Amino acid sequence: MITAPRKRSMRKRVLVVHVHPEPASLNGALKDAAVRALHALGHEVIVSDLYAMGFKAVADAQDFAQRVDPERLYYASESEHALDTGTQRADVAEEQRKLLWADAVILQFPLWWFGPPAMLKGWIDRVFVRGFAYGVRAPGESIATLRYGEGLLLGRRAMVSVTTGAPHAHFGARGISGALDDLLFPLQHGVLFYTGMSVLPPFAVHAANHLGPGDWPAIEAAYGQRLASLFTDAPIRYRMQNGGHYDERQVLRPGLGAGETGPRVHIVQHGDPPERAPRALPTTRRPAG
Ligand SMILES: Cc1cc2nc3c(=O)[nH]c(=O)nc-3n(C[C@H](O)[C@H](O)[C@H](O)COP(=O)(O)OP(=O)(O)OC[C@H]3O[C@@H](n4cnc5c(N)ncnc54)[C@H](O)[C@@H]3O)c2cc1C
Repeated sequence: MITAPRKRSMRKRVLVVHVHPEPASLNGALKDAAVRALHALGHEVIVSDLYAMGFKAVADAQDFAQRVDPERLYYASESEHALDTGTQRADVAEEQRKLLWADAVILQFPLWWFGPPAMLKGWIDRVFVRGFAYGVRAPGESIATLRYGEGLLLGRRAMVSVTTGAPHAHFGARGISGALDDLLFPLQHGVLFYTGMSVLPPFAVHAANHLGPGDWPAIEAAYGQRLASLFTDAPIRYRMQNGGHYDERQVLRPGLGAGETGPRVHIVQHGDPPERAPRALPTTRRPAG
């Protein structure tokens, strides 16, 4: 049992997106532990248990009751039209409402084939639609530029909580699986940061298949510590698209990212010039069912 101190003054709203088909799984236990710990901290919690909800994870024509183009499916255009006209599927609109409600979003899942289970990818594909999660314009601008550190979900925190079969060493800088930060880059940078959220370093339980019940208290305690600092830990300092570090082609300016390769070039380094502050965006586009 996590014994986190109560901090009523810091009452926040947390969405836990849980992705595992077995309620008695280690992932299920982590989800339950998060709910207990967050409640003990005084926070409000909503869980989206995608398998238990039977969430439709396939993005297809069934998502649109009224098509702009009945002949050929352009998913991005149809999803934006559905958002604008209030004709989205109820399950999609409900998940968007939860995201807008939340101050923090936790994604709980096992690593399956070097990424999240397809269920989570499908949730992202169907819920993070154009006009809501991408293709978002700043007021008065004609082209969509609010992404990577700006966007409708600005001001929210996000954290991945992941379990892996492979041991910790496999995910180090020279480990055979590749660095965990690199494996999670598409999700953390390409989805969570892209939509404006501040992304915390992940919480990971490795070598999960070799664990037994005796390992649980230490895991729960470690996770409880991370949850206790969910709203105070420093986020990963991904560079903002519009912060001044990229040129007009969104290519990192010369001299920045020196000594780094791969996804790490997109993290601010000590001594880099300060970035422009993100533009606050009024939440003008509320999803409707
Ligand atoms: C399709 C697929 C692809 C995969 N791809 C990868 C991959 O690319 N890389 C990789 O590293 N791994 C991979 N794996 C392994 C996968 O990541 C692990 O099996 C998973 O993380 C374990 O989490 P779980 O919740 O399913 O664990 P479970 O099987 O539910 O539990 C694992 C162990 O945790 C113990 N445990 C301890 N405390 C508790 C508790 N309180 N409640 C429940 N159990 C507890 C259990 O005794 C059990 O032995 C893959 C697995 C699958 C099925």
